[in-house]
Amino acid sequence: MHELSVAQALLETLDRYQRGNGGSVKKMALTLGRLGGVDPDALRYAWPAALAANGNRALADCGLEIEVLPLSFVCRECGTKIKAEKLTLECPACHRETLVRDGGRELIIKHIEVEQNV
Ligand SMILES: [Zn+2]
Repeated sequence: MHELSVAQALLETLDRYQRGNGGSVKKMALTLGRLGGVDPDALRYAWPAALAANGNRALADCGLEIEVLPLSFVCRECGTKIKAEKLTLECPACHRETLVRDGGRELIIKHIEVEQNV
């Protein structure tokens, strides 16, 4: 499953961070584009398995929070930028069918929550 390898790659990033900074990682908030080919539900489903397979116990309780970005478009004619839930072509400002996609493949770690061990 593709999302399992995505989850493992994210955990490798967390692992490097945790080894450098210490503490226990409690949560990772992720921002996901709609066109990046990563399904948020499948990623949530794969997360516990990826955690179980990871050797770093300081990551064992890490929760996963996923925010899916709306699609972004920019008009080639007038430069208007819009966000929409689905693919569209017509520019709301100049009413020409000149919208092109802007991004959509984001996979960004927005923030992580770390509890320092005392
Ligand atoms: Zn326009």
